[in-house]
Amino acid sequence: MTGRDEALAMGLDTSTAHPARRYNYWLGGKDHFAVDRESGDRIAAAFPTVRTAARQNREFLKRATGFLTRVAGIRQFLDIGTGLPTAENIHEVAQAIAPESKIVYVDNDPMVTSHARALLSGDPRGATTYLEADLREPEKILAHPQLRQTLDLGQPVGLMLIAVLHFVHGTGAATPIVRHLLGALPAGSYLVVSAATLDFHPPEGAAIQEAMLADGRTDVWARSRAEIADLFDGLELVEPGIVAVSDWRAETEPGFRPSPAEVALYGGVGRLG
Ligand code: SAH
Repeated sequence: MTGRDEALAMGLDTSTAHPARRYNYWLGGKDHFAVDRESGDRIAAAFPTVRTAARQNREFLKRATGFLTRVAGIRQFLDIGTGLPTAENIHEVAQAIAPESKIVYVDNDPMVTSHARALLSGDPRGATTYLEADLREPEKILAHPQLRQTLDLGQPVGLMLIAVLHFVHGTGAATPIVRHLLGALPAGSYLVVSAATLDFHPPEGAAIQEAMLADGRTDVWARSRAEIADLFDGLELVEPGIVAVSDWRAETEPGFRPSPAEVALYGGVGRLG
């Protein structure tokens, strides 16, 4: 990672843990600061398989993107909560199948913005763009000139909300945001979601989560299956429905597969009719 002085010069906050950098740490990347590693280690102390979960989430992202491009014929993607560039970003997966694919990346972390160039080297037959915006302000994302220049909202879009909705805290708080975004997309669009859950853990999991949130050891808001299912209300769920990310169409990848409790993330894909 760049030195602290350099980070400060770039306007980056090195005193608070950032989800994008912490996730990069879990994935074995190099773009993180001490504060992110401390936060990542604290979560790992309570949830020792968090690195497995991060990797499985990434595999889900790739399989879902492949499905949308290859099977569903999607050629436009709106990815909110992109994270730091890593191996096989959405544009690489989609454009390897359909080079004309267009991707709009969105994140609210300046660190992601400073690394965004790596996301913008896509196939010249398609297009990739990055904009800094907040998921909690979906109207600003939808009205953003860069989005409008890149995507034709008259044509189907793959809305990717992968490991980001759990940063929107509150029971039911993610639902109106997802509805707002879907409301701007035409029939034939798809919603892809992965989100943290404690459903695979014994009941005391909820108490642990509340205690960790209360004393700042985590900033992840876990959701129940019913609440995730609500996000897909009115959409046609693609088989196998809402399952642990590691179980979503994983049969094409034989070999090691962790248990749902080890990943603690639901994944699902639905089609807007
Ligand atoms: N989608 C990627 C990265 C997930 S990490 C993947 O699944 O591999 C979560 C990302 O969401 C981080 O980059 C974080 O900065 C971003 N994020 C968190 N809250 C956000 C918000 N309110 N608006 C936009 N992005 C947000």
